[in-house]
Amino acid sequence: MQAQRCAQFPAQAGKIASIMLVCALVLCQFFRARYMAQKTAPPSTRLRVLDETIVACRKCPRLVRYRENVARTKRRAYRDCEYWGKPVPGFGDPRAELLIVGLAPAAHGGNRTGRAFTGDRSGDFLYAALHRAGFANQPMSASRDDGLVLRNAYVGIAVRCAPPANKPLPSEVHNCRPYLETELDILRPKAVLALGGFALRAYLQILKDKKLILNQAQYPFRHGADYMLPGDLPRVFVSYHPSQQNTFTGRLTSTMLVGVLAEIGNYLRTLAV
Ligand code: SF4
Repeated sequence: MQAQRCAQFPAQAGKIASIMLVCALVLCQFFRARYMAQKTAPPSTRLRVLDETIVACRKCPRLVRYRENVARTKRRAYRDCEYWGKPVPGFGDPRAELLIVGLAPAAHGGNRTGRAFTGDRSGDFLYAALHRAGFANQPMSASRDDGLVLRNAYVGIAVRCAPPANKPLPSEVHNCRPYLETELDILRPKAVLALGGFALRAYLQILKDKKLILNQAQYPFRHGADYMLPGDLPRVFVSYHPSQQNTFTGRLTSTMLVGVLAEIGNYLRTLAV
């Protein structure tokens, strides 16, 4: 009896191995088909999938605690508001040629309204300038359902959760980077506008790590700078961040930001002819 069982064992093991192999092949085909479907889906679909992933993200415990605590305790002026309290996805035209990169949502701005640069003074300043330069249908940005539509521009951010004192840790920037990388991959922009030194460094670091540029030192932060990068990389434009620190002190005026946006518009038009 024992000898008979032993003789059956190799046959059964072979059968199990074959079944496992077939299952592995089916799974491979499934994930390959899903990957291809995602890769070839229209940008709006791919961005929607990305946004769902971003909104559900809890990779940074410190930021998760902070954003949720701010959403619970609220600022007195907004005590009747339902805070978003989650990571903030990108916003704009899914076929945009211009990707605008900011730092992170404000605790009582994007973290309250759920849309980048919305519900605070920085957003008022930025969208008013985008409107003047022809990239937005209206100058106001108050809430996710305020009717704001961007034309040929998309707003992304380096870190999707509001950080304490607007200062994310390097590990948090690193955790969040794939979301900006995926936006770049989906949009394939022709121009990138970095709002502030932090955003510029975050973007250049992506390129450096992919070995697309040699170093960041070649592209120093300076308001009004624009850089042609190697190969077919998007042209990089640089502006001061529209934080209150910069706009209240006059370091960044509306005219200055509209000037940079107008240059970007001219550049994109030259590519179209
Ligand atoms: S900062 Fe980015 S990576 Fe970290 S929890 Fe928020 S969305 Fe996730």
